[in-house]
Amino acid sequence: MNFKNFPMVSKVVFGRGSFNQINEIIEPKRLNERAPFIYLIDDVFESNTSLTSRISLLYDDYIIFISSEEEPKTTQVDTLVEDIILKTKAIPSGIIGIGGGTVMDLAKSVSVMLTNNGSSEEYQGWDLLKYPGVYHVGVPTISGTGAEVSRTAVLSGSKLKLGLNSDFTPFDQVILDPELTSGVEKNQWFYTAMDCFIHCVESLNGNFINSFSKSYGEMAYELCHEVFLGNDSFEEMQDKLMMASWHGGMSIAYSQVGVAHALSYGLSYVLGIRHGLGNCIVFNHLEEFYAKDVTLFKQMIDKHQISLPKGICKSISQQQLNKMIDVAMNLSPLWENAIGPDWKSVITRSKLEKLYLKM
Ligand code: NAD
Ligand code: ZN
Repeated sequence: MNFKNFPMVSKVVFGRGSFNQINEIIEPKRLNERAPFIYLIDDVFESNTSLTSRISLLYDDYIIFISSEEEPKTTQVDTLVEDIILKTKAIPSGIIGIGGGTVMDLAKSVSVMLTNNGSSEEYQGWDLLKYPGVYHVGVPTISGTGAEVSRTAVLSGSKLKLGLNSDFTPFDQVILDPELTSGVEKNQWFYTAMDCFIHCVESLNGNFINSFSKSYGEMAYELCHEVFLGNDSFEEMQDKLMMASWHGGMSIAYSQVGVAHALSYGLSYVLGIRHGLGNCIVFNHLEEFYAKDVTLFKQMIDKHQISLPKGICKSISQQQLNKMIDVAMNLSPLWENAIGPDWKSVITRSKLEKLYLKM
């Protein structure tokens, strides 16, 4: 047995208003006056000066606003890296990603691709990066994915959607300020938050569960329960969800996700459906695998009056359906976790086809 020995985020600050400390936190990491800090910020904050006005841009520091309309792509990372190299006089002092999973994964990827040659597509997989990236900071503005704590940066490439999984990927610093999540629209809040709930369900019910993952997973599951079905104030919900996201991410770091994620990756790859929403669409039909938690999920949907798109696979071609099944079936660690080593005797192409056609 080879036990995973993985790095964690080196420094983290938590608290409502903690984002105000960003300038003093990063300044000691400035390499020299020619080496800027580059901020990748979700473009929902472009006209929201309450966030950007708190950032002191010194010397050659600058901001790049990122649209998270689409999830990150390897080509997008490569272009960002090329632009940064052309524009800056020296290797940057740091990359600071402020946004959801999309922007945080881009920030992690840009950081490591500034120091590793070639295209980011060459590094999709496990432990392929050779050199540490530049100092990178994550500031989540929506809670659920666990991207702020994970060892991966998920990218879509020309052939697959797969992360840059490496010891160099985790952030050096994370700023957890729940106030930053205030403007999130309700459906999006739910979809991304549900990613966390589903991380816990898949980790806790999987074959790879162990005491390490269980301790984090149970904590996050309990917090999700309180957030979705309790009577907390808005502020309490924000605080709890931010910590649930962190713990959910820690739980899967030492176990694995399962059926919902495998099928959701297929939806995302073929139809471009975003991760949180895709997980919800899939999870709604997974009674066979996670009965108790699908019932809870339905209560959560009702309580928060969330609308889920229906019939999304109704008019797709057989070729698209086949591709979705290919993508899902390819994720054997997820199936091994969810079903066991003999998963192929249970999870057949026709079973997945039937499941997709229900969605
Ligand atoms: P996201 O980053 O795609 O953002 C979703 C939407 O919320 C966007 O429209 C964004 O503009 C908006 N938004 C974010 N913060 C906001 C705020 N404070 N106010 C108003 N709007 C705000 O969503 P996500 O669900 O956090 O991330 C999904 C991505 O994360 C996917 O690409 C997925 O692959 C990735 N992911 C990564 C990991 C990991 O471990 N690296 C884990 C799970 C998912
Ligand atoms: Zn997820």
